[in-house]
Amino acid sequence: MEATLTQVPTQRNHRLAATIGTGAILCAVIVAWPYLTVQGAVMRPFVPIYATAASLTEALTAFLLWTQYRASGRIYFAALAGAYAFTSMAAAFHLAVYPGIFAIESSRSAGRESAIWIWLLWRGGFALLVTLALCARTHPAIEDRERRGSYAILTIGGAIAVSAVLCRSAIAGRNLLPSLVVSAGAYRHLSASPAALSVAGICLAALALHLWATRLRTLMDLWLAVALFAGFADVVLTLGAGARYSLGWYAARIASTVSASAVLGMLMYETSRTYSKLADAHCALKELSVRDGLTGVFNRAYFDERYPRELTQAAAAARPLAVLLVDVDHFKAYNDALGHLAGDECLRRIAQTLDRALMHPGDFVARYGGEEFVVVLPACDALASLTTAERLRRSVADIAMAGPASPYVTVSIGHASCESHNAPQPATLLAHADEALYRAKTLGRNRVENATAGKPKASSVAEQAECAH
Ligand code: GH3
Ligand code: MG
Ligand code: MG
Repeated sequence: MEATLTQVPTQRNHRLAATIGTGAILCAVIVAWPYLTVQGAVMRPFVPIYATAASLTEALTAFLLWTQYRASGRIYFAALAGAYAFTSMAAAFHLAVYPGIFAIESSRSAGRESAIWIWLLWRGGFALLVTLALCARTHPAIEDRERRGSYAILTIGGAIAVSAVLCRSAIAGRNLLPSLVVSAGAYRHLSASPAALSVAGICLAALALHLWATRLRTLMDLWLAVALFAGFADVVLTLGAGARYSLGWYAARIASTVSASAVLGMLMYETSRTYSKLADAHCALKELSVRDGLTGVFNRAYFDERYPRELTQAAAAARPLAVLLVDVDHFKAYNDALGHLAGDECLRRIAQTLDRALMHPGDFVARYGGEEFVVVLPACDALASLTTAERLRRSVADIAMAGPASPYVTVSIGHASCESHNAPQPATLLAHADEALYRAKTLGRNRVENATAGKPKASSVAEQAECAH
């Protein structure tokens, strides 16, 4: 998994989506060009909806970029987060002073020119700050967490403060700013003003520089290019429209929305993808952590955790439970004669055979240690578990692995079970199975011996079966 989005190479589906997005904007600009100045319906709610969405989208993008910075320590992300925080603040100010929305246009703190000047700040500031961020693109990650925090405050907090100060200045100094508005709603002076042409130039230069410097190598590069392109389209359409609520003006607002949401869309998509990859990796790791490396069955730690839990549940539900201790016969001799590698392979095959021979979903086998395995059979009474033990013993003998001390490799099994009315301590039940195993060894190996909880009982499987009849 890549550490940061600056390292995720551009993928085909992203390239396709970005091409469709920019192509659609380009086509819209070309098709709409002759009709830019045509006056449309005055939809007053449009501006608050659009400006609120833009401000929130940019704030969210800034937040996600900051989380990327926090995780990676790469200043590039902090700088980009600053660019988005700057524009989010400008969009909020733009909405606050927009004529006819909050009716503060004629108040002491606003002016009819302010909205347009703040819009210029918004568009030009974004392009400029994204270009400035390029300088930090290859800057190595900051390792020191404390320094990371100071940089974040400096870049993101600084960008917000600068944006607020500039917007406030545009409001307070409205009478000093050159007039761009002709009459209510018409801003034709804007199209020929040096300020607007400079902002258009900055947007175009930022896009060209970004393409040249990044060659759209990563997802971040690609979607930032889309944001810059849509921002430039916003400026061109706005200048061409010359009046609020004209078709060009509406088209510009749509381009602006694309500009605000391009990087956010990618970040959300990639974050959800990373999350599902993490969840898969976590599951795989968890599965790996409970498995024995050599044999592939559960390990001792898993048994130690699950076995007492199963016993407690069995007691609570008044259900029986059985434990089998399985020990490979004469395994030292096997190792000595055939070598440890062959011994390992033998253990693997026995473990897999035991695992496959279990039939109920709750049953499990774990490596207890060395050449010993433990099998837990929940909800299994004495007779059924003895039958299972016998099946396990036979299934190992049936592999017919040639052994030095006997014709085939065999196992001895100690069996202990508790009935529903009698729930012993986990260690006690296990000790009884161990005693039964010891007996199986002394009675000649390759056999199952039984013990009952609290009272080891020297009876073979055959005897048990007889008692049952
Ligand atoms: P018994 O029938 O009484 O159980 O005799 P045994 O030889 O099987 O028992 P003993 O305890 O004397 O020897 C167990 C052997 O198992 C010794 C040890 O080298 C071997 N062993 C334990 N773990 C591994 C392992 O992971 N791989 C291999 N190849 N051998 C192992
Ligand atoms: Mg042993
Ligand atoms: Mg042994």
